Amino acid sequence: MAQVNTSPPTMPSGKKRIAVMTSGGDAQGMSGAVRAVVRQTIASGCDAFAVYEGYEGLVKGGDMIRHMYWEDVRGWLSEGGTLIGTARCMEFKERAGRLQAAKNMIAKGIDALIVCGGDGSLTGADRFREEWPSLVEELVTTKVYTAEEVKPFQHLNIVGLVGSIDNDMSSTDATIGCYSSLQRICQAVDYIDATAFSHQRAFVIEVMGRHCGWLALMAGVSTGADFVFLPEQPPSENWEEEMCGIIKKHRSLGKRKTIVIVAEGAHDANLNHIAPNKVKDLLSNKLGLDTRVTTLGHVQRGGTACAYDRMLATLQGVEAVKAVLDSTPDTPSPVICIVENKIVRKPLVEAVRLTNLVAEAIGKKDFKTAMKLRDAEFSEYFNAYNITTDTEDPALLLPVEKRRRIGIIHVGAPAGGMNAATRAATAYCLTRGHTPIALHNGFPGFVRHHDDKPISSVEVISWLDAESWASKGGSEIGTNRALPSECGFEHTAKALEKHNIDALFVVGGFEAFHAVSELRQARANYEAFKIPMVILPATVSNNVPGTEYSIGSDTCLNALIDYCDAIKQSAAASRRRVFVVETQGGASGYVATIAGLSIGAVAVYTPEEGIHLKMLANDIAQLKEQFAKDRGQNRSGKIILRNEKASKTYTTEIIANIFKEESGGKFDSRFAVPGHVQQGGIPSPMDRVRAVRFGVKSLQHIEQFIGKTPDEIAADPMSAAVIGIVGAKVKFSAMRQVEEEETDWKDRRPKNEFWIDLSKIVDTLSGRKKPVNEE
Ligand code: ATP
Repeated sequence: MAQVNTSPPTMPSGKKRIAVMTSGGDAQGMSGAVRAVVRQTIASGCDAFAVYEGYEGLVKGGDMIRHMYWEDVRGWLSEGGTLIGTARCMEFKERAGRLQAAKNMIAKGIDALIVCGGDGSLTGADRFREEWPSLVEELVTTKVYTAEEVKPFQHLNIVGLVGSIDNDMSSTDATIGCYSSLQRICQAVDYIDATAFSHQRAFVIEVMGRHCGWLALMAGVSTGADFVFLPEQPPSENWEEEMCGIIKKHRSLGKRKTIVIVAEGAHDANLNHIAPNKVKDLLSNKLGLDTRVTTLGHVQRGGTACAYDRMLATLQGVEAVKAVLDSTPDTPSPVICIVENKIVRKPLVEAVRLTNLVAEAIGKKDFKTAMKLRDAEFSEYFNAYNITTDTEDPALLLPVEKRRRIGIIHVGAPAGGMNAATRAATAYCLTRGHTPIALHNGFPGFVRHHDDKPISSVEVISWLDAESWASKGGSEIGTNRALPSECGFEHTAKALEKHNIDALFVVGGFEAFHAVSELRQARANYEAFKIPMVILPATVSNNVPGTEYSIGSDTCLNALIDYCDAIKQSAAASRRRVFVVETQGGASGYVATIAGLSIGAVAVYTPEEGIHLKMLANDIAQLKEQFAKDRGQNRSGKIILRNEKASKTYTTEIIANIFKEESGGKFDSRFAVPGHVQQGGIPSPMDRVRAVRFGVKSLQHIEQFIGKTPDEIAADPMSAAVIGIVGAKVKFSAMRQVEEEETDWKDRRPKNEFWIDLSKIVDTLSGRKKPVNEE
């Protein structure tokens, strides 16, 4: 045992000293998590420390464990990887290493440790916590510390944050980094798509995931790959024939390219590794396809974190500090998880145990259990993938009398994921024997046909038409804001009758919601509206009642943070400049607030809160203070986000001018309006995969009404429904109830906005103290 160099510092009672570390493989978003932990710790009146280079830093101690200050983590949200380093440390796997780590922590007076890493890192953390009392005892018996000195360290607080690109941890839907990694994969596959199409080639793409096929499956879902290989769900015994059969069929339908995605840990049912080259040989030799292999490798860990990971890292980092402060010696160590849209604490030991069981089940060829142990969402995605890829499974085909003509319509502004949802709905219809019908250009396009003009605004969608839509932005079937009331209920009803439309799948934002509401309410007068209708919310503004998430909103946030990152860089280079950036969102401040969390905005101005003079004066004073402290390497550009409808008087330009005028020459100010850039180009993978999942679920919901009479349908409140995420659940809500109880019709948004309190976190982490508006 090395010599004792310091006694533990004496601490004011109640003041915690919280350390954060990143461990295992690096993942995008880890730096954002460190920033959130450090700032929330300081904001809570505690001392923050960072352990550099993972457990290695804990074992080595000294300068590897550093006191962290507010400015130290400035700008970290937009950095990739982890800025405090990570390592794999063999010494920590031994008790001697952990004893040394305990000694170093006590020397710095640290009594809580937040570990951001994968299952290995969290297993190590849990072991450390379990052993802690005996390690402390040993440090006393070996006279490293006195009994008096270790008194404040009887209990070690551990909190886990799951940082890993693989998304291999049980109990949480997403790990910090997994969606960024998926974004890198999808970008690569989208690029490869173009060359594959040009040469009619096949590509076999290997992605990361030793025991977890999440990345491979999600990449398959979001890019519309022809076949995927996952460790948890190996292909059938005769997979060679099955795969070739599916690809041959896709080619015979007219597809010019083939994409097969292989997880690095893929194997057959007997655990024989399925190497990308083996797949390539099959495609070349059996199908005669010109086939190439691409191994994506470390590109998947690269780049900065996507919007979702920045938000997740920030919210979970804040929650981890709160969990430390809430804990008592009897509280089991938590791991911070996310279930659908809800941040939750779960027991760390159980999460690690369940995760290890997956690898064990795979090792025993018990793939049913392996799939069960993954979250319910995983099987749902797997089923959605299969049902939208293999279009000729006789077991899935409905008898002729149960097949329906399903109208698919887009309403409102375009949003990322609309096409992916339409593609999934089309593929689902074809698998089940329904007829998918595109009602082009919203209700005006659809109704226009009623005049018996020879216009093809109503068209059966073929598999090949929809096949290329997985990654396309905008709206391939055209969209329009006009409501049925504007087109005429009579005309709308006639058009539905004329084309024998048995059900409607409506994709769009608040207008789409309004349109379905109108049709539902007009059912008493029009028999044609007594059909099942589902709306899938799709809008950048995320303001549709009945859901906390609309497809397209993630694409918008990603476009916005890319824009803001570029502006921030310019602001930093120009020294002492603040940009006031105007965001979309209508009367909902969602986009501004979540983008604010994701870029580390100085302040966010929303319509919900409004803007007042005191607020502006306060922010100017704060900016002066912050710019005065901004020196050397810690300098970073500053951004204020203002929603387009936050105030009628204080426009984005006026605010920028007021700031400039009132800065007293201490800083400069500019404004920027990204406008339609926020609709995004290529939809984000999250919007694409959720579009597929919700698209399939919506069609399954519609199928429940097959065989019912129009009056029975009209009498069932769920026959006009909105699909969405509410808290920890994906659910359908009856339109009537959502319209009457949950909708703020005047401002076109939900009455209760789940994200409203998140603006407090933006303020806490930017150090903003808001004045109260007394008026
Ligand atoms: P990734 O998911 O990216 O692989 P990980 O956290 O699972 O990340 P590992 O290499 O498994 O990465 O673990 C990181 C470090 O955690 C190890 O180098 C080791 O220091 C520590 N660790 C892992 N397992 C244990 C264990 N059983 N006991 C003590 N420490 C461990």
